[in-house]
Amino acid sequence: MYRGTKDIMLPTTITGSLPRPSWYTENLGTRMFLDAMVNRRYREQYIDTLTCYLRDQELAGLDIVTDGDCRFDDDVGGQSWTSYPPHHMSGYERANPRPTPAGRGGLWFPRGHILHDYLEARVMPTIIGPVGRGDLQYTALWKTAQRLTTRPVKFGAVCAELVAFASQDRHYKSVPDRILAIADAFNQEYNELADAGCPVIQIEEPQLHFLAVRKIQDSVITPDLMVEVFNRTVKGLRAKTEVWAHTCWGNPSQQRMHAQIQSYKPVLETYNKVDADVITFESASSGGMDLEAIGKTIKDKKIAIGVIDHHTLQVETPDEVAAHIRTALKYVTPERLVISSDCGMGREGMSRRHAFYKMVSLVLGTNMVRKELGLPQAQCLAADERYSLVVPAK
Ligand SMILES: [Zn+2]
Repeated sequence: MYRGTKDIMLPTTITGSLPRPSWYTENLGTRMFLDAMVNRRYREQYIDTLTCYLRDQELAGLDIVTDGDCRFDDDVGGQSWTSYPPHHMSGYERANPRPTPAGRGGLWFPRGHILHDYLEARVMPTIIGPVGRGDLQYTALWKTAQRLTTRPVKFGAVCAELVAFASQDRHYKSVPDRILAIADAFNQEYNELADAGCPVIQIEEPQLHFLAVRKIQDSVITPDLMVEVFNRTVKGLRAKTEVWAHTCWGNPSQQRMHAQIQSYKPVLETYNKVDADVITFESASSGGMDLEAIGKTIKDKKIAIGVIDHHTLQVETPDEVAAHIRTALKYVTPERLVISSDCGMGREGMSRRHAFYKMVSLVLGTNMVRKELGLPQAQCLAADERYSLVVPAK
């Protein structure tokens, strides 16, 4: 059901992660969140960082905010996005983590490529028994953010198949068994989160589009299995809260997974089958080349488009953002369109100010279109000229 985006025209948000402040030197590691928060130093740095993340989003004027993925460590390429669940779920041998073998999940980059470091950083614990929620503590993480702001906080996390691809396994008989077991454990965690009142739950990076462009002919990891995994992960959630499926073409170290810009066209019909209220699409990096196909193919769901690019440091202008939205509106009604970033901006490589001004442009550009449509505009305190310190020219 629509909750976070309910009754807002052209609602604005970001995917999730934001760049770490330089003074946020504490790392969660393999500790459980509630245990780490007992420590005064960790708690102070975590809450201060979270406050900055939320405040920056409020100053920019975003309607739906995130916790900036504040739980993640200062890892190479933001590896924590994948490794947080294995390090905190039950069924894993928490000690003795091992490097993930090459090629798992279709990922391979040669030595000399920046993402080869990312592959070397996939050092994960091994599954030795039935997996369970363990100490994921998504509800505690979300509550810690939501009690600092009156805006709806979207909570997002990695999908089951990516965790399964990166995990070594001495327990499950097959890869689908492993993926579905992780999906079922996530489902329990997300149901608790929805029951606690989380207004938007985002499942990040179901692998349908990557399977399509890599043309992987695999009789086991099929599009049907990926749809089943998504739908099992979110089972029961849409009766309680708003479910998003986030897709993009990669963001470790702010890199795309492929050198070339990819198209969503081969996989749009399949994405119609996922049990989500909103599907997000990377669009800024491709100049909006799939907007027509997305608008015509994705039915009965809202469509979130990225209008700022997480790969580049050049801050998009509000005019560019507005032009992108106007193009999208040719194919998607304003009631169905959500404005976002292509992906998270916090996985190593972008400064806090770059991310901040990209969020400001996102809102200012959306406001231009809202004005044209006679819709209420969001307050963007960050762009209020009354508070400029620059002396006016005489
Ligand atoms: Zn993404």
